[in-house]
Amino acid sequence: MNVRCLSKVSQKEIRGRVFLVRVDLNIEAGEEKNAYRIKATLPTLRYLLEHHAKIVLMSHRNRPHFSAAEIRNPNLEIRKKMRAFSLRPFAGILSKKLGTGVKFVPHFDFEKIEIQIKEAKPKSIFLLENLRFIAGEEKNDSKLAAQLASLGDVFVNDAFAVSHRADASIAAITKCIPSYAGLLLEEEIINLDRAMKEYGHPLTIILGGAKISDKVGVMKYFWNKADHFLVGGGPANTFFAVQGIPMGKSLVDTNAMPLIRKYVGKKKVVLPCDVESDKGIILDIGPETVKYFSEIITNSNTIIWNGPPGFFEKKGFESGTKEIWKAIFKNKRAHIVVGGGETVTSGKLISNFKFQISNSRNVFLSTGGGAMLDYLSGKKLPGIEALRR
Ligand code: ADP
Ligand code: MG
Repeated sequence: MNVRCLSKVSQKEIRGRVFLVRVDLNIEAGEEKNAYRIKATLPTLRYLLEHHAKIVLMSHRNRPHFSAAEIRNPNLEIRKKMRAFSLRPFAGILSKKLGTGVKFVPHFDFEKIEIQIKEAKPKSIFLLENLRFIAGEEKNDSKLAAQLASLGDVFVNDAFAVSHRADASIAAITKCIPSYAGLLLEEEIINLDRAMKEYGHPLTIILGGAKISDKVGVMKYFWNKADHFLVGGGPANTFFAVQGIPMGKSLVDTNAMPLIRKYVGKKKVVLPCDVESDKGIILDIGPETVKYFSEIITNSNTIIWNGPPGFFEKKGFESGTKEIWKAIFKNKRAHIVVGGGETVTSGKLISNFKFQISNSRNVFLSTGGGAMLDYLSGKKLPGIEALRR
């Protein structure tokens, strides 16, 4: 792999140094404690601690858009909003998971923070406040990047899910100090590259979820490589709409209709042969489709899955998604990549999901949604390009 990786940095170069680690703590309120994204980044943090580094964690959370004046002098209402966007809750959660105190830094007084870090012992961990409280973050501002870089010696990107964005703490910062991919980002690249370049046939792509416009890039990239596209959810409805089938109130991605016209009627594109609906609205794939999809999944050697095939959050319409998971776990041979916010969350339909995942070394759960789709579309991600040798 031609990406500079933390795993290749010598122990000597880690000891006592300050590592700025960009993680992805963009986690909804209420989900903080069980977030897969936190678990996925722990190996990098543990690795740095084992080698006696100091760590400064950086992340964004959601899309707060406050003015500089509001941040400097927040009124009660702004304060309340800021709390909902704050990264503060993660200090306690990470402390517990890592077994060592994580100090939260609520301000962006970089000179003060620098002194605080300098005076700290090796293996200390700091967590900065939501970087999107600063306007420069989303503008890839080089001044902000330099300020962040002044806090440490080495930058590590472990936030795959944000790597499709040219943000200051993802892209511009790599121009300031030596920069590497963290253990999680490295895993993501290895697993996605394998599915894109070293795949075995049959290669099957499962596409469901809401909008197919987000996923057309993947169809295009894999059109000549893949053997099957199993299509469910909103994307299947959109195919039906292009075929002229009246879809009523079913979820259809109208904007994408012209984009998929060329794939309609092609043998590789496998559409549901039966569906489950509620008052005429199609909400899941039917049992015959489940059987047929499962058979193809069982016989595949490479599988990429994004998007649940049904509205699994609604009782009575979860079975398509649940059965796809079962078929995935039954296949112990294929290299399987599953990604997307809702797709990964839908794993909760399987009662022993965590056990199944940890016992299925051939199944890789990507932490990326948009980033994964961009990567699998063959696009260059600014956060990853910046780490290339
Ligand atoms: P991901 O976040 O995994 O990339 P998407 O964001 O594309 O997936 O879409 C996920 C959502 O699509 C789920 O919340 C699911 O309920 C919804 N969905 C799937 N099939 C349907 C359907 N037939 N009708 C309405 N919503 C659907
Ligand atoms: Mg989603």
